Amino acid sequence: MEIKFERYHLQSDFYSSLNGFQLVSVPTEVRIDPLTKRRSRIITWSLPTKGKFDFSQMVEESKGCIFCPENVLQKTPKFIKEIAPEGRISIGKAVGFPNLFPAGTYGSVVVLCEEHFLNLHQFTVQIYEEGFSVAIEIIRKTMNYDPNARFWQICQNFLLPGGSSILHPHLQVIGDPIPTNEMEYLIDACTSYSERKRSLYWSDLVQTEEKFGERYIATFGKVHWFVSFAPIGFNEICAVVEGHSSLTTLDQEEISSLARGIVSTLRYYYDKDLNSFNFAIYSISEEDSHQLLLRIISRTPIQPYYLNDWTSFEVLQSELTTNIYPEVLCREIRPYFS
Ligand SMILES: [Zn+2]
Repeated sequence: MEIKFERYHLQSDFYSSLNGFQLVSVPTEVRIDPLTKRRSRIITWSLPTKGKFDFSQMVEESKGCIFCPENVLQKTPKFIKEIAPEGRISIGKAVGFPNLFPAGTYGSVVVLCEEHFLNLHQFTVQIYEEGFSVAIEIIRKTMNYDPNARFWQICQNFLLPGGSSILHPHLQVIGDPIPTNEMEYLIDACTSYSERKRSLYWSDLVQTEEKFGERYIATFGKVHWFVSFAPIGFNEICAVVEGHSSLTTLDQEEISSLARGIVSTLRYYYDKDLNSFNFAIYSISEEDSHQLLLRIISRTPIQPYYLNDWTSFEVLQSELTTNIYPEVLCREIRPYFS
């Protein structure tokens, strides 16, 4: 079943002070997400980059944190014995434990590596393979203890613009018996689509994107990578894992495929002078119409006189903006996935 894409072309005409007061026309595009019907606004201008930020002072002042190797097994909390009698879960260099400051029923942290700080091009596939393996082990053990906790996210907030006060690279793993807003939007829209079309939305979207090719990036095993038609954040890249709705059923090859796509995306972000990002994996058990989804977006880079990327458009109009055409982003990022 082919997915239909809707868009509006808007145009602003004025005499430009940058151009000898000649008449200029600046286009804007409003796109409607085919699943959620949410609108995204694609602006066609952006501020110039300020280059790469020097993190050396920030790293020096914050090193020896609670996640650094000399502290992580001494100062972090332990799981209750009913979930993980070993207290903490380690695979390779990744270490998982409960979040001291949780935001729900089951909140955990997975420290990704021994290094206190990594630039975006320094993250490796192995780092994410180990981190995801620990996160999935936490989810499996927690669901054995509490099967009602079927709504899970693995997410990463990297650096202050991404919402993290701790520099040391880490994931958050959060599970609840109720969905987040975004999970509920996804479930409702995918269920409604399945009932109307007798087909899975994400399978249809992947097939459509593959056919047109202009936003389709790559397939690694069962993991399909593409750029959203109507992004909800800057430089948004998505992945869908065929045949899975929950992280708990992934095998090692699928974990590696997710890790490889994230590292490819971060290398692209680094080359664009970006340094802060968020991603989320939406994992929902027992929802036949849902497929495991990952979204990664860049944030305004940390720099002197930091500029927040959420303006009144996003905060008060619920209308998300981005500053690159998804088709251009796709062309630029594709070589990083090869
Ligand atoms: Zn540290």
